[in-house]
Amino acid sequence: MYKHFALSAYFLGTIQRGLWPGNCLLCAARAPVGKDLCPACERALPRTEWACPRCAAHGAAMEVEGVACGACQAHPPAYVCARAAFRYAPPVDKLIQHLKYHDRLELSRLLGGYLTEHLQTLNDPLPDVVVPVPLHSSRLRERGYNQSLEIAHFVAKSLVLPINWKDAQRIRPTMPQTELPREQRRKNVRGAFMTGGAFAGRRIAIVDDVMTSGHTANALAESLLRSGAVEVRVWVVARA
Ligand SMILES: [Zn+2]
Ligand SMILES: [Zn+2]
Repeated sequence: MYKHFALSAYFLGTIQRGLWPGNCLLCAARAPVGKDLCPACERALPRTEWACPRCAAHGAAMEVEGVACGACQAHPPAYVCARAAFRYAPPVDKLIQHLKYHDRLELSRLLGGYLTEHLQTLNDPLPDVVVPVPLHSSRLRERGYNQSLEIAHFVAKSLVLPINWKDAQRIRPTMPQTELPREQRRKNVRGAFMTGGAFAGRRIAIVDDVMTSGHTANALAESLLRSGAVEVRVWVVARA
């Protein structure tokens, strides 16, 4: 099911990169040993300074620092908190699109690395297990890999956490949330996930590439809680 060629090319790149300087993935300038971006591009990444402590919304949605946004106060999400390394803005949006739609699997290391770094700056308790947002089998066949699983592998490995990608499934195909009007997004993912008893009594971190409206993460969190999970948090590379 996985694209073995792409994966081995990717691991070869990882080995090479650890040994001598490569070029910045964004501007092709020389990058320091072990780094995928040059220092200038790294500094220019769209980091989130001020976000809702519950759903990671930023910008106009946020009014008071440290206080949950109006949407979370009106309808508290199923997850305890969402953390995002970046805003979904250039060049992170392009990097995610390349990982997702253009087989650029090596970008999962870059994006997973930044997500890990971001999580390490926070004082959040670590979960028992990491769960990538699953793709429906038809989408997985078409794409050949699940970008969320690729990112989650890096995060779980870096934080020395187990990962469980087998017991959470997307049981019906859904439209990409970004292609739907806001009011249809909740309905699109309702009942889309099925999760197993392996999550009973566990504290879970859901990992995804992008969080748009938050409905996908919320639907998966609801399913995990129904399966007996005691707490669900959400870790994403970027928040729209
Ligand atoms: Zn650069
Ligand atoms: Zn919020």
